[in-house]
Amino acid sequence: MMTAVLQPRYAAKVHEHARAPRRRHFFDREAETMPREELRRLQLKRLKASVKAAYENVALHRERMRAKRLRPQDIRSLEDLRQLPFTVKSDLRDHYPFGMFARPRETLARLHASSGTTGKPTVVGYTRDDLRTWADLMARSMACAGVRAGDVVHNAYGYGLFTGGLGAHYGAERLGATVVPMSGGATERQVLLIRDFGARVLCATPSYALNIAEVAEREGVDLRASRLEIGLFGAEPWSEAMRREIEARLGLKAIDVYGLSEIMGPGVAVECEAQDGLHGWEDHFLFEIIDPESGQPVAEGDAGELVITTLTKQALPMIRYRTRDITRASTTRCACGRNHLRLQRITGRNDDMLIIRGVNVYPSQIEAVLIGLPGIAPHYQLVLERRGSLDELTVEVEATDEDVLAYPEIEARVKHHIKSLVGVSAAVVAKMPGEVPRSQGKAVRVRDLRPKAR
Ligand SMILES: [Zn+2]
Repeated sequence: MMTAVLQPRYAAKVHEHARAPRRRHFFDREAETMPREELRRLQLKRLKASVKAAYENVALHRERMRAKRLRPQDIRSLEDLRQLPFTVKSDLRDHYPFGMFARPRETLARLHASSGTTGKPTVVGYTRDDLRTWADLMARSMACAGVRAGDVVHNAYGYGLFTGGLGAHYGAERLGATVVPMSGGATERQVLLIRDFGARVLCATPSYALNIAEVAEREGVDLRASRLEIGLFGAEPWSEAMRREIEARLGLKAIDVYGLSEIMGPGVAVECEAQDGLHGWEDHFLFEIIDPESGQPVAEGDAGELVITTLTKQALPMIRYRTRDITRASTTRCACGRNHLRLQRITGRNDDMLIIRGVNVYPSQIEAVLIGLPGIAPHYQLVLERRGSLDELTVEVEATDEDVLAYPEIEARVKHHIKSLVGVSAAVVAKMPGEVPRSQGKAVRVRDLRPKAR
């Protein structure tokens, strides 16, 4: 009976699409379609100013440049960037809390911090202009994803010190959308409000979006029949298989948004409606792809570590920040008309890489194998243990059925798929439906039970 009630509404939604295709929309057409030569001229001008400000106001940058006998005036071309020293995450922790700020603390409008799993958190700061730039870039990113003024944006990113919640919030407001500042948790209530307020856009981590889909299904609410059309998902690596799963279960287009608080927060790069790479906003950031071992740039199109230099940040200018994210970059023209480079979807972070008996494995590779396999739900955890001198990987999967007699067959099948597709031998344990913990924000994909190095 449920489907009989819902069907006409779903049909109406599909019909509306067909009748009124939304026209392509730019939040800042001039900046987004700027010819690449002009973009590079703007980058150089901004780079010079940003390096000068960092040199004059941040002891760490000044000392590192002096050690390499570099002065700000030595930066005469974009290629000269390569002479500058790198910055890494531990630099922020070592200068906790405000030691890397280029502006006096009392002139800052806001602070954010990431919860450090080990030791001190990393603290980032923003001037009023920085907050305006961030809102503009997030609004630009949302428009690029297909969000429009007047849309209801349901924001399930966590609010607070984490940059996701407020980043999406002010971007959506800047674009002229109606924001529902939901934050994470209370998932049953989220489902009802998404439906009742007519949200067209859902902002969340991909793992939490999947949790929302599952709760909706359990509560008998068909969100595919709701007004949802766009998901803006980020803050954790996710696979293409996960994207298709979320799209099918929520009835929306899942768009990948990238950012990191050390650089700004969400809105550094985003997919356009072509879903073929993320446009990195080059008028505000300089992107490099380097070989993580040698530190040298890789050839265009090759995989390497993403390094970002901020061009307009006032409070916390970053020079050659090593993100530890592995990706590729392309400057070929995009069908959407934007001229900013595209980064391949980031599915692995250097820090997330597991080495199992000499084989490098990213959790997202395991995820890509698991999602869509019959008999298991798209929820999993990887457990790492040490036996003797070897690291052992156990993949905990969740069966869709309570028939435990079928579990040995599921375990053997999943084990075989992981071995043949990822090339690693893992133990597989099938759990009962609902037994694998659900994401309330950032998913816990790995439980590392190995003894901590002293
Ligand atoms: Zn595009």
